[in-house]
Amino acid sequence: MGVKDDDSLDEAVEALSDSVIITQLDSMISWGRKYSFFLYPFITACCGMEFMSVAGPRYDIDRFGAALPRFSPRQADLLFVVGTISHKQAPILVKVYNQMTEPKWVYAYGVCTVSGGMYDNYATVQGIDTLLPVDVYVPGCPPRPEMVLDGLIKLQEKVANTKGQLELASGIAPVGEADDRIVTG
Ligand code: SF4
Repeated sequence: MGVKDDDSLDEAVEALSDSVIITQLDSMISWGRKYSFFLYPFITACCGMEFMSVAGPRYDIDRFGAALPRFSPRQADLLFVVGTISHKQAPILVKVYNQMTEPKWVYAYGVCTVSGGMYDNYATVQGIDTLLPVDVYVPGCPPRPEMVLDGLIKLQEKVANTKGQLELASGIAPVGEADDRIVTG
């Protein structure tokens, strides 16, 4: 349709408004991504009970588009780290992260993953952000399901507001020297 002046443009927009949606490719991709997380639940401890509660019918994480847990990292783009991470488990966690599909996000679920929690000792990783780039931190011991859903909504907002969706990539985990032995390509 040829548009000669502002009035004609307004008329054209009005005529098409019921049948055409104009958007940017970036916005469309981010809209799709934020409602279709495929999460990998890396569950090690008692926060797992709370995760089951969030996944169950009462809180129903399905409403937010993150319903189907994937137990293959290559089919997942959201890593839910749920529970205490020991230094012995750290290499496995990093390996799972590195194998996940791009673009990917990390969710620190509960105070143990955020900071080591009450386990201020030599055996426990003092926050998974020493191993992986974390996108959302949700404290609590354990966090209430409402907090978990709130964290997920914040992650959705973050994804929606990220520019350059087509080039998004996190790369391999920036692990420390102690864990270099387990980084795989
Ligand atoms: S945050 Fe609390 S409930 Fe969750 S794994 Fe740690 S000790 Fe258990």
